[in-house]
Amino acid sequence: MRAPPPELTVAAQDYLKAIYVLESSGERATTSALARHMGVSAPSATAMTKRLDELGLVERLPYRGVALTDEGRRGALEVVRHHRLLERYLVDRLGLSLDEVHAEAELLEHALSDELEAKIDAELGFPTHDPHGDPIPDSELRLVHGENRSLLDLEPGARGSIARVPDGDSELLRYLGELGIVPDASVEMLAHAPFGGPVTVRTSSGEHAISRELADRIAAA
Ligand SMILES: [Zn+2]
Repeated sequence: MRAPPPELTVAAQDYLKAIYVLESSGERATTSALARHMGVSAPSATAMTKRLDELGLVERLPYRGVALTDEGRRGALEVVRHHRLLERYLVDRLGLSLDEVHAEAELLEHALSDELEAKIDAELGFPTHDPHGDPIPDSELRLVHGENRSLLDLEPGARGSIARVPDGDSELLRYLGELGIVPDASVEMLAHAPFGGPVTVRTSSGEHAISRELADRIAAA
């Protein structure tokens, strides 16, 4: 059977996805991390994790927050698949821009039926990545993990291409778009300023200095 079970509320699906995102970025899904991620109070995050525990979707770990069970992970991956497929569709077929699609997909991801999901997947030719460069779980919810390094790891003089940009912050995505930092664009690292200063890259739109912190959030291949 495919997850998420139909009785799973929108809020529960969002929590599963948030736990999944925290886990895959190597962070522990503690109550405070979850509350921050979801923009809710700690008591409401606790109440929801109790409910997810009762449904067998998470395991509550004393003092360490929660971890997804296999079923919980399937539920999260199903929502992630919807989200990323929808973003791909909105960009490729409806011409929305990179900074617009996340908010739309946040809403639509909960309403997509398995039938429509399969049709969109086939129509797009079974895409493997969303427009931000994040992998789309396939119909068996398998995920390909690319071995991307961060843009910060490019040595001065090295060339590469942008593999992934952060999803979800539309202002940041608009800014990166102006700099020519979008998935598949080529990029050359020109300099790492000393003493923790910015890095300078050349893209199709010219030379740009960006902070190390931002460069580290962008993946390059
Ligand atoms: Zn998104």
